[in-house]
Amino acid sequence: MTLIFRSTLKTSLDEQAQDELNQTFVAVKGFLRIPGDADLVWILDRSDPDDNKILARIQGIEMISDSNGVVLEGSNTYKSLGFDSADYVRQVLSNPIQPVWHEKRDPSGVKYLIRSSYVVNESRTRKIYVAIGISLAPNNKLLTSFNWLVLALIPLAVVIGMATGWAVAGRALEPVMAIARAAQRISGSNLSLRIPERKAADELEYLVETFNDMISRLEQSFIQVRQFSTDVSHELRTPITIVRGQLEVALFTAQTTEQYRDAIVVALGDVERLSAIVRALLLLSQAESGQVVLQLQPLDLCETARNITEQFEIPAEGAGVEISFHTRPGNCTGEFDRVQIERMLSNLISNAVKFTPPGGLVRVHVSRVGDQCEIVVEDTGQGIPPEHLPHIFDRFYRVRGMEEQASPEKGLGLGLSFVNWIVKAHSGTIEVKSEQGKGTTFTVRLPFRPHLPNVSNSTHESVMKAV
Ligand code: ADP
Repeated sequence: MTLIFRSTLKTSLDEQAQDELNQTFVAVKGFLRIPGDADLVWILDRSDPDDNKILARIQGIEMISDSNGVVLEGSNTYKSLGFDSADYVRQVLSNPIQPVWHEKRDPSGVKYLIRSSYVVNESRTRKIYVAIGISLAPNNKLLTSFNWLVLALIPLAVVIGMATGWAVAGRALEPVMAIARAAQRISGSNLSLRIPERKAADELEYLVETFNDMISRLEQSFIQVRQFSTDVSHELRTPITIVRGQLEVALFTAQTTEQYRDAIVVALGDVERLSAIVRALLLLSQAESGQVVLQLQPLDLCETARNITEQFEIPAEGAGVEISFHTRPGNCTGEFDRVQIERMLSNLISNAVKFTPPGGLVRVHVSRVGDQCEIVVEDTGQGIPPEHLPHIFDRFYRVRGMEEQASPEKGLGLGLSFVNWIVKAHSGTIEVKSEQGKGTTFTVRLPFRPHLPNVSNSTHESVMKAV
């Protein structure tokens, strides 16, 4: 850039010098007369200061010679540069391209630009060689100053550029540093922290939003994991404490084999319940982490639901509850996992029977609704208080006080978590409506083929049966 600028400056100064010499030559032609062979007459008004000035300019650096190089008029300055040789004069006079430009140096090294040309006498018989010059010292001085200026400015420009670059980069990177600082503060114990949003519609804002979304998902997973560990330790601690207490009491108080036997039987019952919880949890966590996959096969949901309902007729009768199955015309055959569907129906129907007092009704209704199969399990039982409804699908969630009234056998609080997973795994939806004292209705809707890919995995099914 600097080089281009310097070369443009030099060209412009050279052109300026050439223009000046061209104008001077025009003045030469205007003022110079050559009446005889060797006579030169300057026609001008000596009393006019302008004319005198022009003549002084012409004669400042000038050489006028005849065609053989014999100097007719020459200034001292031109003499110091060295008058042009006869050969050079002849060469210029014979050169059709006029003027001829060349440079000369005086003894002190100062450069001059010389314009060589000729004028013809009035009778047009002779050519008179005219060379005029101009000192290039001011131009060279200007170029030298320019060089020095550039030399001084380059480091300054580099320093200013670096400082500006540093400042601009610093400002541009500030949000990135803020993100990094915020990210450093976020750890497993304070996942509620978020990177402040800048409200600027740019890529960094998008990065901040993406990052915050990721932290939200992580926080959600952490909460679930924490909740899971709390639930598990709470659920396992109680039966373990009971078993331990029973065995200690037996150890210190039992005297007969019969008493030892009774204590062991009771403890074994609790150990059974413990292993049921562990198996159920294992399966549930495998299911929710995607390790249990559906084994799909053509299945008539009407038929399946009718069979399961029939299996509950005897327990329902024992509980004084009337159970019935209903359907509407329409094919309910689709691709389902038989074991999981049976498990889902068993959980829903057993809850309905369990939480319905004697004299109540349980109705199971299966029908085709559009491109889905609808399963409704409804009871006229005690219902679920509204504040508990959002939580009944959570692991280990049981409505306090209800179970004790409903059944002497305490549930694990995992049944509906399984139901929820089975419905989701079949790409379906589940809905619950309940009114205290009036009853509860669970509505499951399943497409005739789940949208998810599935792989056969029979090893988990036997565990599922145990829940
Ligand atoms: P549980 O093993 O205790 O039955 P679930 O996960 O199946 O566990 O159910 C969770 C809780 O939801 C039950 O403890 C009960 O309080 C409530 N519940 C489920 N189904 C019904 C129902 N049909 N009527 C009333 N309450 C119900």
